[in-house]
Amino acid sequence: MVFSTKDLEYWKGEYPLLEDITKLQPVFWLNTNLKRIENLPELPVTMDDMMEAEQLWQRFIPFFEREFPETKKTNGIIESPLRKINSMKSALNETFYGDLYLKCDNELPIAGSIKARGGFYEILHHAEQLAMKNGLVDKNDNYEIFSDKKLRDFFSHYKIGVGSTGNLGLSIGIISARLGFNVSVYMSADAKQWKKDLLREKGAAVYEFAGDFGEAISAGRQRTLADPQAYFVDDEKSKHLFLGYSVAAFRLQKQLEERNIKVDKEHPLFVYLPCGVGGSPGGITFGLKQIFGNHVHCFFVEPTHSPSVLIGLLTGEKEKVCVQDFGIDNRTEADGLAVGRPSSFATSISEHLISGIYTVEDDDLYRLLALLEDQEGISIEPSSAAGLLGPELALKAGYLADGEIGTHIAWATGGSLIPAVDMEHFYKKGKELIHQASLSYQKI
Ligand SMILES: *Cc1c(COP(=O)(O)O)cnc(C)c1O
Repeated sequence: MVFSTKDLEYWKGEYPLLEDITKLQPVFWLNTNLKRIENLPELPVTMDDMMEAEQLWQRFIPFFEREFPETKKTNGIIESPLRKINSMKSALNETFYGDLYLKCDNELPIAGSIKARGGFYEILHHAEQLAMKNGLVDKNDNYEIFSDKKLRDFFSHYKIGVGSTGNLGLSIGIISARLGFNVSVYMSADAKQWKKDLLREKGAAVYEFAGDFGEAISAGRQRTLADPQAYFVDDEKSKHLFLGYSVAAFRLQKQLEERNIKVDKEHPLFVYLPCGVGGSPGGITFGLKQIFGNHVHCFFVEPTHSPSVLIGLLTGEKEKVCVQDFGIDNRTEADGLAVGRPSSFATSISEHLISGIYTVEDDDLYRLLALLEDQEGISIEPSSAAGLLGPELALKAGYLADGEIGTHIAWATGGSLIPAVDMEHFYKKGKELIHQASLSYQKI
């Protein structure tokens, strides 16, 4: 689509919220296309796909336990704790009823971010397919054999490529290199040095590109697909990434049951998910909707400078438009959320399932992460803090009825691999900002 000033004025006329969005003001948008579960159109993924994905994870348990001893405490499953954060709720002066939880994907083993779900899954799936096609593995085998030299030698003849702002590259790079693949990560200029260093140390090749994430992806896609033996992980349209994320819903269901937390008409569940291309929040939303139907309400959260899924869904143009078309710069400190154009695959599903999207300013992300550190002793990266404003904003917007009791989960998406000096810097910045002014959700 070619954009002119005239087009912009047209869109603002059609959707007045764009006025605030293009001024980089935080906004709260309710999705008018949300469908009740019984009225959903046919979707390109199903509950069966999700169950198959979970079974694949189960088959790889012996591989994880052998290759990554840190997964022993979760029995070879890549999963994170659910933590109740009462002090944080009080510190936020939130007035909603019900409990606030943090889903701590910042603690996911090996990759330290939510990308361990989608990224690992896609590579494991690819590895299994290759090995099965070549008669090297059968689904009934003990998958410890994926650690054997024979399979590693076999995979070393195959290439994997991925374009990434950082975290996806980390997860794909680490797992691919460990399986023996020849893996290349194409990174945008803003990707952090420590991520590039860590990837090289783990055995991945790292290529850097000037420009943003979109350019790193296209360059990676082009170079990878030039080789017929190569496989490209495409964050802009991957079904496998999506399915890897969706499995989180089964795990969360179990964690809620263990705590005797009910989810039904009288006890709705609200989940607030930081959003980049929309794959991880989309997959998790899809999974949760399969399990809890109309009783779960999912919101995506984007930085005010990168509201790509918001603009895509608000205008209905989805991946055909990018934030730059609307004069927005896509510059944010929130790693993983600096995305100008949404995933076509994920948004075609999320458009029916999400309750809404809100945007946050980077300064508030820093304030929230410092507050969380002080109140709960939990360290997360800026992107991870985005969900914490959700309940109060949903209440203000009238989505939550006054006095309605529910369970609220802010999904933390990354943090544990961040070097201590960087974390210290984030924290200090947050403390200074708190000192200057309070959280800006009062403005919305
Ligand atoms: C990638 C990422 C997200 C968002 O996931 P998408 O699939 O891009 O929407 C959120 N937080 C962190 C830390 C990430 O790395």
